[in-house]
Amino acid sequence: MWSLEKPTHSAQSTFVRCISRVRNGGLAARLADATQTVTTASARFDRAARSGRLHEIARHDIVAPDISIDEMGKVYTQRMAKIGAPGRDIYDEIFASAPLGRCPYCMQRSVATLDHHLPKAHFPSLAVAPLNLVPACSDCNKAKLDALPIRAEEVTLHPYYDDLGDEIWLHARVVEVRPTALRFTVIPPIGWSEVLAERARNHFRMLGLAALFASEAAEELLNIRHQLAMLHEADPEDAVKDELERRALSCADARPNGWRAAAYRAWHGSAWFCGGGFLPAV
Ligand SMILES: [Zn+2]
Repeated sequence: MWSLEKPTHSAQSTFVRCISRVRNGGLAARLADATQTVTTASARFDRAARSGRLHEIARHDIVAPDISIDEMGKVYTQRMAKIGAPGRDIYDEIFASAPLGRCPYCMQRSVATLDHHLPKAHFPSLAVAPLNLVPACSDCNKAKLDALPIRAEEVTLHPYYDDLGDEIWLHARVVEVRPTALRFTVIPPIGWSEVLAERARNHFRMLGLAALFASEAAEELLNIRHQLAMLHEADPEDAVKDELERRALSCADARPNGWRAAAYRAWHGSAWFCGGGFLPAV
């Protein structure tokens, strides 16, 4: 997972902007009355997320006594996410905050939506709170849908609050049988707490990242196999290992915990792979 800068818009200003064009006078008044509740909920979210205690936020089915979950959901879908809606520029700003347009949860697929870190169906007061909105790909968004953490270990990693750092935590192991493959896994560095380690493992499992990275690595191998075969033919002893090391260092310089860096580290470290294991099954 990659960390991201927090959005700059407050929950209050975002909510006020989203409800600025409600024509139904009764609804407009009820929503306006909920502004303080929305602001308080976001502040509570911020405090809980900073201390890794999002699982302790009480689920609340209503924002204010006379606003339904459905009405609050529509503030997001019709007054923030919809093109031309009053809150759409804030939506676009958060959407565009992911570097390279990549989803920070899986670090691979393109951003396609905003994910409610805590689902709006259960936490309606956070439906348009920027701190609860994370740019994400469709697959991660679906995989996280309605996930309700009960324990601290179950809280999905949050790109605005959790920074896994540059110490190596993503590892791969070469399956040393043709056709070869990679098995990706999280191995927490020594400095991580047990809760962070378990959260990272849960995050990895819930989003199916082992399968995603294995698939990407298989495609990568397909693309470099010809070059490796040529190197192996010219110098069976060291050429493949040296080339894989150069690539591992270059990838690690860019993304130490990207699947490419982990893949090249694993391939470079396998004498079986370097000795011809990369070749297709005969
Ligand atoms: Zn994703």
